[in-house]
Order: sequence, then C-alpha cells, then structure tokens
Amino acid sequence: MTDTLMVEADRVSKSFGSNKVLKSISLTVKRGEVMCLVGPSGSGKSTFLRCINHLESVDAGRLRVDGELVGYREKGHILHELKPREAALQRRDIGMVFQRFNLFPHMTALENIIEAPLRVKRMPKAKAIERGMDLLAQVGLADKADSYPAHLSGGQQQRVAIARALAMDPKLMLFDEPTSALDPELVGEVLDVMKQLAKEGMTMIVVTHEMGFAREVADSLVFMDGGVVVESGDPREVLANPKHERTKSFLSKVL
Ligand code: ADP
Ligand code: MG
Repeated sequence: MTDTLMVEADRVSKSFGSNKVLKSISLTVKRGEVMCLVGPSGSGKSTFLRCINHLESVDAGRLRVDGELVGYREKGHILHELKPREAALQRRDIGMVFQRFNLFPHMTALENIIEAPLRVKRMPKAKAIERGMDLLAQVGLADKADSYPAHLSGGQQQRVAIARALAMDPKLMLFDEPTSALDPELVGEVLDVMKQLAKEGMTMIVVTHEMGFAREVADSLVFMDGGVVVESGDPREVLANPKHERTKSFLSKVL
C-alpha cells in the first residue's frame, strides 16, 4: 500500500502555542496524483504543506512522505522523527512554489534555475545550463534566460520559479497559492504550466482558489476549515455536490 502513496497523513496535529492549527488531519496522495487543497485563510493549508516539507514538525499523529516516516508522535511521545540531515536530504526532493515569486533578484532566470543543481547537487556547469535551458523551454521562456526577475512579469517570474523547483528533479511538488498574487490576465499561463506538469505524471499538492483548475486537473479535492478536513473526494463531485454547509459557503465565495 505504502508503495503507491507519496504522502500519507494519519491523524496529524499541530499547534502553535494554544492555537490548534491542524486537528487530526488524515489524507493520502498517491504517486502521480494531483490533490487540490482548498479552504479559507487560516485553515492550516500552508502549515500542512510545511509539515510535508519538513519546515514544521508534527505534534501528534503520523506523517509519511515517499514511504519514509517523517514524524510520528502519540500522547506527547516522539516515536519517530527524521534527523535534521535526513530531513534536509528529503527536502531536496520536494519542490515548493510560493505565492510570492521568491527568485533571487540579482540573478538571471537561468542563474536562478541552475543555482541549486550547481551548489547542492554539484552538477557540472555545462550540464546544469543544458538542463536549465530545457526547463526554460518547458515553461515557455527559452528567450528569457538572461533576463533579471525585475524585467519579467509576475507570471513569467512564477514560471521561472516552477522551472527552478523542477531543476532539482523533485518527486513531489507543493504549490502554495501560486497564482494568488498575479494579475488575473497572468494566471492562465502559470496554470497551463502546472497542467502540463500534471499530465507528465508529477505528484502535486496545490493550494489554490482556482476551482476550474481543480475540476480539470485534480484527482482529489480536499476542503479544510479550522484545521480539519471537512470534506474530500473527486473534485467534480465535491464542486457539484458539496455535502457540508461550510463547503457550500466557501465555494459560493470562490466560484
Ligand atoms: P492557511 O494557509 O490555510 O491560510 P496557515 O497554515 O498559514 O493557514 O495558518 C493557520 C494558523 O496558524 C493561523 O492562525 C496562523 O496565524 C497560524 N500560524 C501559522 N504559522 C505560524 C507560526 N510559525 N507561528 C505561529 N502561528 C502560526
Ligand atoms: Mg496559506
């Protein structure tokens, strides 16, 4: 079973002080699947992604990524936790794209993309450049290799950010509201790149309010509110027939 699962959360909880942000989250993402995670601001979506990416530890429950037990705690006892070095190694294999295109401003598009392969993977420069150019072509920006972020539109910057994440050959891509900061006319070009990636079989968790994308691309949709999974299932089904009032109310605001 575990072989087919990329992410397996079993009653994962997380608090910041007395603020219970994740309350017993259980969900799975199979290899090659796209899961869309939706819900109101403050419902714990980013925190959940950060737990998967080892930027936060879980307080209770069990979290596996790619079959590896990342964190396992019960009744306050640590039953398993990745060592910092193990966590760093696994984080290399997980690509993350944020709302704000956090490119290095003093580097060109290509330099942004080859930085981690050169420094972290010690890839030979010629090979990193060749791969970087392929990735730029994949996101439709072959002609922008030498452009600095300030000279790119938000949509172009976000596509470079996706190419930069892909340069590390991730087994899992996490997107945290990748189009929320974009002007509406630039959203489509970023979603198109993500769609293509999904088609090629990338495993993805996408926090988004783009329900059209969820309907068209996602294998599952999870609606979170107040740190719990309120409802989940086939996106077309959940969007057409939300069962819970909270889901209905949320969807009426974003659709
Ligand atoms: P979402 O992404 O769904 O908007 P978040 O996961 O960012 O939700 O936040 C959920 C809750 O956790 C919020 O109340 C937020 O203030 C709190 N929170 C998130 N990160 C931290 C942190 N590092 N320290 C303290 N509180 C945090
Ligand atoms: Mg968030």
